[in-house]
Amino acid sequence: MKIDKSLFHPDYKPEPYWWEAARPGEDHAADLPATTEILIVGSGYAGLSAGLELAREGRDVAIVDSEAFGFGASSRNGGGLSGGVNIGKGLSGGPGQKLSAEERAIQEQLLRESAASLSLVETLIERESIACHYERKGRYLGAFTPEHFKSFKAKSELLNRVTDAQSTVIGPDEQRAEIASDFYHGGMVIPKSGKLHPALFHKGLLDAAHRAGATLCAHTKVTAITGQAGDFTVKTTRGDCRAEQVIVATNGYTGELTPGLRKRLIPVLSHIIMTEELPRDLAASLIPQGRTISETPRVLNYYRMAPGDRRMMFGGRPRFTDVGADVTAALLHRNMTDRFPQLKDARITHSWSGHVAFTYDFLPHLGREAGLHYCMGCNGSGVGMLTYLGYQVARRIVQGGALDSAYANRELPRVPMPFYSGNPWFLPIVGGYYRFRDTLDRRFTG
Ligand SMILES: Cc1cc2nc3c(=O)[nH]c(=O)nc-3n(C[C@H](O)[C@H](O)[C@H](O)COP(=O)(O)OP(=O)(O)OC[C@H]3O[C@@H](n4cnc5c(N)ncnc54)[C@H](O)[C@@H]3O)c2cc1C
Repeated sequence: MKIDKSLFHPDYKPEPYWWEAARPGEDHAADLPATTEILIVGSGYAGLSAGLELAREGRDVAIVDSEAFGFGASSRNGGGLSGGVNIGKGLSGGPGQKLSAEERAIQEQLLRESAASLSLVETLIERESIACHYERKGRYLGAFTPEHFKSFKAKSELLNRVTDAQSTVIGPDEQRAEIASDFYHGGMVIPKSGKLHPALFHKGLLDAAHRAGATLCAHTKVTAITGQAGDFTVKTTRGDCRAEQVIVATNGYTGELTPGLRKRLIPVLSHIIMTEELPRDLAASLIPQGRTISETPRVLNYYRMAPGDRRMMFGGRPRFTDVGADVTAALLHRNMTDRFPQLKDARITHSWSGHVAFTYDFLPHLGREAGLHYCMGCNGSGVGMLTYLGYQVARRIVQGGALDSAYANRELPRVPMPFYSGNPWFLPIVGGYYRFRDTLDRRFTG
């Protein structure tokens, strides 16, 4: 693909904008202890949230990462904090789907907990004094087709009834109060959701886990785990550690260490660009209520203004293979100007990507596999949910195994692709097909 160089600012960097304020690093790094009560693999939101809670409960806990702290998705994401909109296929109760009374009860519990993840993040930010530009400005979900818009009334009623989301449905004629674009066929406003600076939130959690007494080990890749619950030997590139319990919190970066989990996850690259500072009036006009925007196609985009409200952050999955930051930047810029033609001259200062983990049932999970605890499968929305599930895994350990969570112990389904072991060879085909279906839906339904 030929790339128009004028799209890029002279100071363009192919790395996360967020790292300008908080780069993954080694702050608080310690040597790997020879023994610990609980060892956590992964220093993203899930690992830190679990480690923080365990350390606050006086448990001896070590959190290890193969890279610098925060190298994974937790310092790269869009910072959109949803209050519980996605509850997975099979339980969404969408058009044509009839749920039994039992399924409905599960659906409602999943939704309530998903809303609770927002409260947990807000509590952590306040209790640990995390300066991460958090704002509860709400979310606007744009309808990609008139058909999608028709489904919003029932969705909004469900959210309001179960989670008191106070959501409202906005027709196409009214949506200019939400967004300076006519791209969508109306939308839904969900006030109970927020946005934050993802890398600063991560740094705040890291500092809090350190203050609470967790041992933090960077550049310590776990290469093997042997033994059983109560007596594990964890082999790492920096020596061995014996641990009574192990939590695996590796989400989209789950590798050969845990093949049983890996074959149940589909790692997908998500990409983001940041624009240069826009003229003040233009910047203020784009998303006047300051919300985070997402949308309803299968291959969706998500966007928001960055802290300071002068730059547009625009994310999506324009390619399902790693084609390089410059190519995805150009594709995202095109998607951005499809929605906001007024941004055609806005140059890109940063472009980056990271791995998210999809599950076959589109639900996040926490559970146990071969005696190991795990929480993973964010399906693209893990800022709140994986912070929450990390906390829940910690509570399960503190409570000696008992846990009242609808996300616990649901079977994490295998990906039903022949010989699948974690390398998603089918993604370009499935992704291309989804994109084609989205195009057809947009042109021919409604
Ligand atoms: C571009 C992008 C945009 C996103 N936007 C949003 C958004 O707007 N809203 C939202 O809710 N979610 C979003 N997400 C998803 C969200 O970022 C993730 O769900 C969340 O950060 C996952 O946190 P985690 O702690 O589970 O995993 P991660 O933060 O990915 O951390 C996993 C860690 O495990 C480590 N690891 C892996 N294997 C080993 C090993 N063998 N030994 C030691 N360490 C290991 C990795 O180095 C990594 O640091 C986005 C993700 C991406 C990539």
